[in-house]
Amino acid sequence: MSADIIDGKAFAATVREKVAMHVARMVEEHNLKPGLAVVLVGEDPASQVYVRNKGKQTAESGMASFEHKLPADTDEATLLGIVEQLNADPSVHGILVQLPLPKHLNSDLIINTIAPEKDVDGFHVVNVGRLGAGLKSMVPCTPLGSLMMLKDYHGDLSGKNAVVIGRSNIVGKPMAQLLLGANATPTIAHSRTANLQEVVREADIVVAAVGRPEMVTGDWIKPGATVIDVGINRIPAPEKGEGKHRIVGDCHYESCAAVAGAITPVPGGVGPMTIACLLANTVTAAARSAGLPEPEGLTV
Ligand code: NDP
Repeated sequence: MSADIIDGKAFAATVREKVAMHVARMVEEHNLKPGLAVVLVGEDPASQVYVRNKGKQTAESGMASFEHKLPADTDEATLLGIVEQLNADPSVHGILVQLPLPKHLNSDLIINTIAPEKDVDGFHVVNVGRLGAGLKSMVPCTPLGSLMMLKDYHGDLSGKNAVVIGRSNIVGKPMAQLLLGANATPTIAHSRTANLQEVVREADIVVAAVGRPEMVTGDWIKPGATVIDVGINRIPAPEKGEGKHRIVGDCHYESCAAVAGAITPVPGGVGPMTIACLLANTVTAAARSAGLPEPEGLTV
């Protein structure tokens, strides 16, 4: 294996340190304690783990953490009422409604009810539009973390060919916008892309956000390219015992690492950066709300 390993776990720890430093300074100098409210509807086990981790890391960074856990049969009016209440609450600077929501709730309506300046997930149409227009916005956490790692590793991304595999609103599309903003030349590939392997083989930077375990193999990768593996896939691992699972990315790690110049592992790559960037976005939102300068090192 020859590739450099881009250590997202270590990088996320440095982002969290910066967050804590900014929080301490905001509290001391401006009596401003950034606050993040997380709303969870229902009992999806994965979402419960995410929300617990978010709450823990929020509190560890010195911020105020507010959790609203609602039963799965919560009606839309009640949920909208809670979002409106959080919009109006001056101690809350970031609001995150954990997705997926139960099917009877209209996710688009709920997300677009969050005040755009408190939308730390960056999913509100106003933030989507602002990112597309190259204006200051709240940037979705997973692409933000991915770009931070790319910039940290490469410095300047000017002139690099980037291929993003996946066109979701959460990862693929905002990732491509960020790469464009950083002067790379992005291509967005998806399930209907012709000759996907050849397209990927042209890339200096590959961002895989597909949701298909180990789909991208080393023979797709241009020698020396940088591979950012966003995928989180749970697959059976009979070698660990009956009924056991392991987590793999969208890229086949060993074969890609043998060809790439740098690669993010799964787990320990993009995943830890996502929550770190959520904290970073909350600090940014708090600073903006008070008219303070943008906190350094937390945006791209
Ligand atoms: P979506 O399912 O919303 O999007 C998947 C995208 O991949 C779609 O655009 C789809 O194309 C494309 N795709 C599917 N199959 C193929 C194929 N065979 N060839 C090319 N493209 C294909 O997923 P998300 O963007 O939400 O997530 C992607 C992955 O990232 C998942 O593994 C998810 O778990 C992970 N993830 C990780 C996060 C983290 O913190 N690290 C955060 C968010 C997601 P089409 O549009 O044509 O259907």
